[in-house]
Amino acid sequence: MSYSVTPVGFVRSCFKEKFAIPRQPQLAPAARGVLELVAPFDQPQAIEGLEQVSHVWLLFLFHQALESQPRLKVRPPRLGGNQSVGVFATRSTHRPNGIGQSVVKLEKVEPGRLWLSGIDLLDGTPVLDCVTTAVNQIAADAPTLIPVSWRDEALSAAHAHALRLQEPLVALIEQCLAQDPRPAYQQPTPERRYGTRLWDLDVHWHYPQPGQICVLDVQLA
Ligand code: SAM
Repeated sequence: MSYSVTPVGFVRSCFKEKFAIPRQPQLAPAARGVLELVAPFDQPQAIEGLEQVSHVWLLFLFHQALESQPRLKVRPPRLGGNQSVGVFATRSTHRPNGIGQSVVKLEKVEPGRLWLSGIDLLDGTPVLDCVTTAVNQIAADAPTLIPVSWRDEALSAAHAHALRLQEPLVALIEQCLAQDPRPAYQQPTPERRYGTRLWDLDVHWHYPQPGQICVLDVQLA
């Protein structure tokens, strides 16, 4: 038996690619986005009372990780990518029905739009439901943070783009990189550059030493 579901909206997110998205919500409070509700949920009635709520649970589709063959075991990146565990014992993106759930902070409510922070969602993520909660949970098993430093030019560029975007860009980059987005099995050399796209910017960094990140440049994509 199968059922079909229809999104109530789509997330416009600072995260334009999967790499460097925090592995759980709330780990990067500067990670912001907007849930753009679609008809009929874009009507004011659908959000009446929501302005009193601090956080919401989003049920969403991992639309960039949907697979035709279900997996019984997965290799979570947090375990280094080489240890296989049962799919129900993880928060892997490879869910049986591709459904994820994230508790995120509700910053502002307006008809048709929910302004969110602390998200761990890719741009364009379809949202199936939005359920209230008052819990402000920092993941109990939050990863150890690593120090993030900046090249002078990269930091100046980030400040300038933060002003242009009106976004806490420096904090966003530091919060995301401090969680070390690199796959745990990869040993970085100082020569190797890593990159991701945040908002409309390409951000590059490297590991001058193991356990340390330096942001190399921040440029318009
Ligand atoms: N908090 C959710 C949960 O527990 O169900 C998601 C956890 S999952 C480990 C978080 C990762 O999902 C992010 O780091 C990002 O790489 C990935 N992700 C986010 N949105 C996605 C999407 N729409 N499609 C595929 N992968 C996505």
